[in-house]
Amino acid sequence: MAERDKEKIESLEAELNSTKQMLAMLLDNIPGGVMEYDAETEKIGYVSDGLLNIFGCSEKSFREHFYNSFELFVYKFDRSMVREQIKNQTMFFDSVELTYRVRGLMDDIVWVYHKGRIYTDSEGRKRFLVVLNDVTNEKLIQAELQRNTEQLYMETERLKLIEEAVDNTEYDYNVLSDTLETSEREADGRRRVIRHFMENSRLGDVIHPEDLKTCMELFKECLSVQKKGVTEYRIRPKGKKEYVWFRMTYASFADKQDRIIRVIGSAKDITAEKAEREELEARALTDGMTGLLNKTAMQSSVEKCINEGSINSCHAMMMIDTDNFKTVNDTLGHDFGDRVIKFVAASIKDTFRETDFVGRMGGDEFMVFMRNTTRGIAEERAERLNRTIKRDFEEKGKKVGISCSIGISYFARDGADYDSLFKAADRALYEAKEAGKNCYRTYRL
Ligand code: GH3
Ligand code: MG
Repeated sequence: MAERDKEKIESLEAELNSTKQMLAMLLDNIPGGVMEYDAETEKIGYVSDGLLNIFGCSEKSFREHFYNSFELFVYKFDRSMVREQIKNQTMFFDSVELTYRVRGLMDDIVWVYHKGRIYTDSEGRKRFLVVLNDVTNEKLIQAELQRNTEQLYMETERLKLIEEAVDNTEYDYNVLSDTLETSEREADGRRRVIRHFMENSRLGDVIHPEDLKTCMELFKECLSVQKKGVTEYRIRPKGKKEYVWFRMTYASFADKQDRIIRVIGSAKDITAEKAEREELEARALTDGMTGLLNKTAMQSSVEKCINEGSINSCHAMMMIDTDNFKTVNDTLGHDFGDRVIKFVAASIKDTFRETDFVGRMGGDEFMVFMRNTTRGIAEERAERLNRTIKRDFEEKGKKVGISCSIGISYFARDGADYDSLFKAADRALYEAKEAGKNCYRTYRL
């Protein structure tokens, strides 16, 4: 061999060695491991230290455990899938990419991400060079995520059903991003999200003027300290004329720095409930036959007026009793008597202002409480009522005349509370009856 050829061979050998060293370094530093196997026999050739690290074993036990075969390296339940995928991918590409399981030496399952490249060796045989990465943790996280997603889906569905059943709108307001998310559904079924909620909302336009101040104060408080509670307010929906009553629960939450970051709660349309409640309340306060206030409502209205007003105000209390009413019943019948009671009630109502309280105390007896009046006005009205009520009723040839007697007491001259005023007015009524009926008397000290 010529000297020159020898030199050339030596230099090539040196180059080859350094390339081999570089390759070894590279393989050792690759994250994961490297393996090489015969495409036909699937006999494993080279395995890197990194691959042995994944399975925590020596090269000898690795080869023994997997019978030095790539086929047996793959977990038995994934073998057909791996074979299929490699076959499909190599039809079009020189490389393959897939994920499968390997049963480790300790019977543990290791998920590996396999990236292989096919090449032809010096003997013309097709071989795979594969980089393998342990992706067990990622797989576990993915499975956990999947489970959570499924659970979340179920919870969301459940929540949807509950929301539909209870007719409540849940809301979640994120203070920092000024975003309101509600359980109301958009057309596509997603929750309704309103961005720039406070920035854009014109609460003054939608909330009833009488409720606005309380609502604004509540919002402010909720956004400055942790607070929870319930409130009721009226809102006029866009394009609607009528207000709707809402009951809202709320709870605000602060972060570690005591900044309020979220307000959550629910809102419910209670318009129908309110109307029903108001009707029930009104019914409990009124006298069924005449529609006037009943005795209890009369007392509480008078007491409220006295307690909220000034001691220097002048109010008049009148006790009104129909004269000779028994004769109406006896002569014209009980039903006719009822009609007469309704007539007296309507006459009293017409004689006084809307702001005065008018009530039926029972039987043929009524009470009027004139707020913020004068003795002159009160007595003029009493006289007028005497004139209005006095009349004869005639039916089937039978004639009965009625009139009324009135006793008046004044706040605070004759009494500063309901009971005292009542007693004084009743005393004055007695005196009117004693004086021959169809007249009024004021309480005499
Ligand atoms: P006085 O002139 O002294 O007031 O005597 P009076 O005949 O009006 O009798 P009084 O006020 O003492 O009694 C009222 C009567 O009214 C007693 C009762 O029989 C009758 N009465 C009470 N409630 C009703 C009612 O709802 N309908 C009818 N038709 N009669 C009633
Ligand atoms: Mg009477």
